[in-house]
Amino acid sequence: MEKFYLIDNLCRVEEIENCALKGDLVCSCGNEFFSVFYNGKLTKGILASDLVRNKGTLFVEGRCTVCDENIKIFDSSTMGNPKKRAKSVQSDIIGQNLIQYGLRPFNVRVLLNYMPDKMKSDDFEEIFIEVKEMNGAKWKRIVEENK
Ligand SMILES: [Zn+2]
Repeated sequence: MEKFYLIDNLCRVEEIENCALKGDLVCSCGNEFFSVFYNGKLTKGILASDLVRNKGTLFVEGRCTVCDENIKIFDSSTMGNPKKRAKSVQSDIIGQNLIQYGLRPFNVRVLLNYMPDKMKSDDFEEIFIEVKEMNGAKWKRIVEENK
């Protein structure tokens, strides 16, 4: 089984009974603040999460505020349940023309739900991405991929 793409970029990882994984995004330089960029659709966030797919595609990336390393957080064409992956879109294309989410750096937290035999792979059933502003008190869920 492929190794989960994000595992080297998560800290404070919690695993729940072989079916869920939660962790905070950390850069290889040790920094935990990121500018968040996306290719998808920004909603008003009332009935949906802030970031949703646009024509089947959603791409979310964090850029380290210290060393500028880019860390891919979600790519609908290569991650998640294979049946729900975006088709015919090259991730290197949607990884371009990214729009910044918010203006400030965020802490980023990722939560994943798995079928037990797929634990810690790229083949997850659900992904939730949450962000918190520097010195902020509350986590805000900006991606809910659970169709
Ligand atoms: Zn860094």
